[in-house]
Order: sequence, then structure tokens, then C-alpha cells
Amino acid sequence: MSKIFKMVILGGPGSGKGTISTRIVRSFGLKHLSSGDMLRAQVLKETDLGVVAHTYMKAGKLVPDDLMVDLISSELACLNTSKWLLDGFPRTRPQAEALHKHEKGEDDVTGEPLVQREDDKVESVKKRLNLYAQNTGPLKAFYKGIGIFQDFHGTESNEIWPRIHKYLQDHLTPLSGPF
Ligand code: AMP
Repeated sequence: MSKIFKMVILGGPGSGKGTISTRIVRSFGLKHLSSGDMLRAQVLKETDLGVVAHTYMKAGKLVPDDLMVDLISSELACLNTSKWLLDGFPRTRPQAEALHKHEKGEDDVTGEPLVQREDDKVESVKKRLNLYAQNTGPLKAFYKGIGIFQDFHGTESNEIWPRIHKYLQDHLTPLSGPF
């Protein structure tokens, strides 16, 4: 089984990406890195990045690529594991290219409460859905182009999850079953 397993998960707002990420992390013991959570932590701490990022997040816009790449690169550089799941990054092709460059050369790869986040207001969600639609094509093409794209379909998390689990089982030792 792989000692190194680096995955990114793509999925639009409301796609269940967060739920699936949590299940992957619990079942296979990967380190979960959520770009949205990292940004929200920066906003709370009122760091320079947090203050700038907040203006974009409130407007339902993407935080500029250079800021995101710096944030994620420094988080990845601090990790003491090579098994991770990136959730929410990359969101654009330049981010994917930067991540790929960063990683190249290093290896050969609910019951949650319903809360409305500030960036979940209707207009904001519409913008995020549009943005996702615009950006996801080039992102998929990039990962397909380098031969590391896997597509999973379904109308709900419980339908998609067993398919993802089955795929990951071939590469990682499960800590727990698919359900
Ligand atoms: P999320 O929790 O992943 O939906 O992220 C919340 C917000 O943070 C997004 O609507 C963006 O404004 C910002 N954000 C998160 N990840 C990225 C990223 N990879 N690139 C640009 N902005 C991001």
C-alpha cells in the first residue's frame, strides 16, 4: 500500500464534497486540508491574508491565485505526512499547475448542523456555482491531461461514497468500512 497518497477532491458548492472528504479522511487516515477552513481561520485571526481574503469571500468571489498558492504551499511544507486530501484547492487551473509544480519531483502520487455561512447567501451561492462551472472544465482537463483524474457520479453522498471507497481501497489500507 502507498506511503504517499496525495489527492484533491473537486465538486461544486452543495455537491457533498465536504461530507465525502470527511468520510475519506476517517476511513483511510489521510490528513484533511480544507482551503475554506484555512481561510476562515485566517479571517478569525485577522491576519493580513485573512483581512484581504474576507473581502473576496463575502462577495462570493475566489481569493486571488497567488495568495491561495502561498497559503497552501506553506501548509503543505509544514506537514509531517505524505498522505493528504486537499479539499477546496485547487479551484483554478493556475492553482492546479502551481500545486503540481510544488509536488513534482517529490514522489511518483452527518449529522452536521445546518448553518448558513456568511458566504452562503443566495446571491453568493449563485456566484459560487457559476464560478465553479467556469473553472472546473479547465481543472478537469488539466488532471485528465496528466492522467490522474478519477470521476465519481451519483445523486447523493451515500451513493457516491461506496464507489470512492472501492477505488481508494486499491491504494490505501482502510481504517474502517465504507458505511
Ligand atoms: P469553501 O469553504 O471551500 O466553499 O470556501 C469558502 C470561500 O473561500 C470560497 O467561496 C472562496 O471565496 C474562498 N476559497 C476557498 N478555497 C479557495 C481557492 N482554492 N481559491 C480561491 N478562493 C478560495
